[in-house]
Amino acid sequence: MAILEKNFECCQRDELGQLQLERLQSSLNRAYKSVSFYRHIFDQKKIVPEDIRNPSDFRHLPFTARHDLQANYPYGMFAVPLREVVRIHTTTETSDTPTVIGYTRNDLKNWANLIARFLTAAGVTDEDVIQVSFHYGLFTGAFGLHHGAERIGASVIPASSQQTDKQIRIMQDYRSTVLATTPSYALILAERLEALGIDPKTLMLKKGLLGAELWSDKTRRDIEQRLFIETFDSYGVSELMGPGIAGECSEHAGMHIAEDHFLPEIIDPLSCEVLPPGATGELVLTTLTREAFPLIRYRTGDVTSLDYSPCACGRTMVRMQRVTGRTDDVLIVKGINILPQYIETILLEIEGGVPHYQIVARRDHNRDSLEVRVQVPENVSFDEIKYQELFRERVRTTLSHRLGMRVEVKLLERKTLEDELKKSGKVLDLRLL
Ligand SMILES: [Zn+2]
Repeated sequence: MAILEKNFECCQRDELGQLQLERLQSSLNRAYKSVSFYRHIFDQKKIVPEDIRNPSDFRHLPFTARHDLQANYPYGMFAVPLREVVRIHTTTETSDTPTVIGYTRNDLKNWANLIARFLTAAGVTDEDVIQVSFHYGLFTGAFGLHHGAERIGASVIPASSQQTDKQIRIMQDYRSTVLATTPSYALILAERLEALGIDPKTLMLKKGLLGAELWSDKTRRDIEQRLFIETFDSYGVSELMGPGIAGECSEHAGMHIAEDHFLPEIIDPLSCEVLPPGATGELVLTTLTREAFPLIRYRTGDVTSLDYSPCACGRTMVRMQRVTGRTDDVLIVKGINILPQYIETILLEIEGGVPHYQIVARRDHNRDSLEVRVQVPENVSFDEIKYQELFRERVRTTLSHRLGMRVEVKLLERKTLEDELKKSGKVLDLRLL
């Protein structure tokens, strides 16, 4: 399988280390000189970028978190004047303050190049017809794939978020060979094809470039069998660039991180200690080439591990494993890690369960307890105490059983719960107050 930029993708690890250090110094300088948030941090710690001469010096720098970006909304983290910014995207939160991300001309060039590396690693060529079924908008996914695909000369169809039947029509009539979308939408397409009685083997589709959400090996097998395609996993973070930070090669054994553009670290999300190679923890990334939006030690909140062993494809860039979870909303109660997504899954499984909920951890007399606040089901009036009680008890016993600990459940009216969520978020840890 071809390699687009062999001089970078296959370079010796010691040469890579040298390149990273040079680029890191220039990136730190840019951040120090042009972003008051970073200048303040450096000044407070009484260090200047020139003091950072090796990885251990670098570890003295504090992390950048999502809330830092939100606090500097909209343009506070930009390192160049707006006249040098040629593109603006945002993160996808709907209820929160989004993060506004800027790109210079060079940033866009690097971005397209990194996507082109991933496409080449997946065996995509200028003979291919790529159907980009990511939504074209402020979200980074569609545009990232689009320009990378043009960069390698493939034919790009910006199918965006057209209705599923139209997507299928495009796939059939325009003979798409590659589908770029989320794993969950790939499954929706598979279901619809089955419902319409269309055999995927009659399509020209050969590959799926999937990403932008958490997915399992089981989902992957399911998609590959039902759409009759080979899938390639990719990793992106909008705040840092978008997709293209890491992508899978034909070995399907992890995603190669573009280490000449992003410096990865794995930390323990609680102690913030840097973990040794191979350990599972939170991925932290530092941009090495971003001009408009340099980020130092950005906590992605994604849980993964790094594999530095040589890959059979010949690339020397480290491979990250598929992201297995998020760290930011994890609650540890009585030694049990409570993941909001898990509670959400259980609530959705309960008949009448609703996706609106809030998880509250308390501590009374040194004893921790967990309460889940759930919305009264739409079909039950708030005044029907008996039905409400039955529903509450069912949620309580199911959650307690599945989490292996006692859980209290409180029912709230929709409006009250929405107000609570607005005020305190999905996870409220009263033990921290
Ligand atoms: Zn490889």
